[in-house]
Amino acid sequence: AAPTPPIVLDGTFARELPELAVPWQAEPAPEPQLLVLDDALAAELGLDPAWFRSPDGVRLLVGDLVPDGATPVAQAYAGHQFGGYSPRLGDGRALLLGEIVDLDGRRRDLHLKGSGRTPFARGGDGLAAVGPMLREVVVSRAMHALGIPTTRSLAVVATGRPVQRETALSGAVLARVASSHLRVGSFQYARATGDVDLLRRLADHAIDRHHPAAAEDANPALALLRAVVAAQAALVARWMLVGFVHGVMNTDNMTISGETIDYGPCAFMEAFDPATVYSSIDERGRYSYGNQPVAAEWNLARLAEALLPLIHDDQEQAVALATEALGDFRPRYGAAWSAGMRAKLGLGDAVDDGVLGPLADDLLTQLRSSRVDHTSFFRALATAARGDGAPARALVVDGAGFDAWAERWLALAPDAGLMDRVNPIYLPRNHLVEEALAAATDGDLGPLDRLLEVVAAPYDERPGLERYASPAPADFGAYTTFCGT
Ligand code: AMP
Ligand code: MG
Ligand code: MG
Repeated sequence: AAPTPPIVLDGTFARELPELAVPWQAEPAPEPQLLVLDDALAAELGLDPAWFRSPDGVRLLVGDLVPDGATPVAQAYAGHQFGGYSPRLGDGRALLLGEIVDLDGRRRDLHLKGSGRTPFARGGDGLAAVGPMLREVVVSRAMHALGIPTTRSLAVVATGRPVQRETALSGAVLARVASSHLRVGSFQYARATGDVDLLRRLADHAIDRHHPAAAEDANPALALLRAVVAAQAALVARWMLVGFVHGVMNTDNMTISGETIDYGPCAFMEAFDPATVYSSIDERGRYSYGNQPVAAEWNLARLAEALLPLIHDDQEQAVALATEALGDFRPRYGAAWSAGMRAKLGLGDAVDDGVLGPLADDLLTQLRSSRVDHTSFFRALATAARGDGAPARALVVDGAGFDAWAERWLALAPDAGLMDRVNPIYLPRNHLVEEALAAATDGDLGPLDRLLEVVAAPYDERPGLERYASPAPADFGAYTTFCGT
């Protein structure tokens, strides 16, 4: 008999919420080949990375080996996509394998993406290509290293199955680890069934997993809403402070946990401009860099609507309570952003919002009009805090304007050391991501491995890594990203 795999997969989601879980199996991968494994993450999960490199480990990572007692499921959810409601989205090409209790006792989902068609696949082929899955690996690794809540990428396995896009590509399965895959769209789906008991079980499950303090509240559903509002306000503030553009902030891509999820058409902004959009399909800029807080608030209003039956028996009162909870988003977002910007500028708590606000606004106006690379500018500004303003000044068009601003700022005695701890020097630069993915697709994983190593320590300047700290050369051109590939 084959030895039992050394991994225990629980299934509280499938057991507690069977209406949202369709038991399903992955499509077999003809020739599975492990491309990337996050050893540290495997260890965090209490699993031996060496086992994942074994044939059985790789089979598990493509859904071919299902440990006894595990029930892989496709999760049902709904969602607003670019503002239009789809009552039935769900995992069209993904499976929740189960939950692992990690070394810290935290329950984490192990989920596969690209594992074949499910009953939610609609017109899709259920598959994923190597390039986009590796992209998720790079960006999620960077986000985690930046300290931004995110789903993690445990592994990518090439399946040996071709995937037909504009051309034939190599197929892959991404193994994703998340504190859960509960989304705003999960609640929209449960609400739309009209089954209030299901909605209540979903809320209880979410509270238990992510926001346990809400269970103690007199109104747990309202407390859950408040907690998600707070988590998302903090998350989106973090995105804004590093120039992250998610690209597809549909309600099915917004978590209840407050983790960033679904790295499709995302990118890090280089030239600072709130109107920045990378996704080929975001023609109206709904999910532009500058619109992200508004998009998040809009999504949270959809969560609030879904929760109304649990918030109060009288729906008018429920609306009043939910509206008040949503009102927390702006002040919370503002406070998180201000705290982050204060640190980016090396300033302490003594600098109050009345001083910080105009100082930051004036700086961002300059960055915008000069189309300055966001990441390198803040790093250069630390050099200015050390007494050499030339590198930062060189990046803006209006040198005199910068000097006037810098004089105000320097009078506040910025702490350069603090700035270097919060302003990353290395991010996944769009051109380097593309370069690494192209090489990986051609069988050379070297550039990808190096890029992963660099972005895993975003704040520590190391010699010889200048090209990882610079924006794309002009001949790279305008960057466009694509969804669902
Ligand atoms: P996303 O834009 O990645 O959040 O995906 C939106 C929806 O489309 C989800 O329900 C996905 O499961 C589904 N989907 C995306 N790509 C595929 C595909 N290749 N095959 C089946 N379903 C897909
Ligand atoms: Mg999605
Ligand atoms: Mg996606």
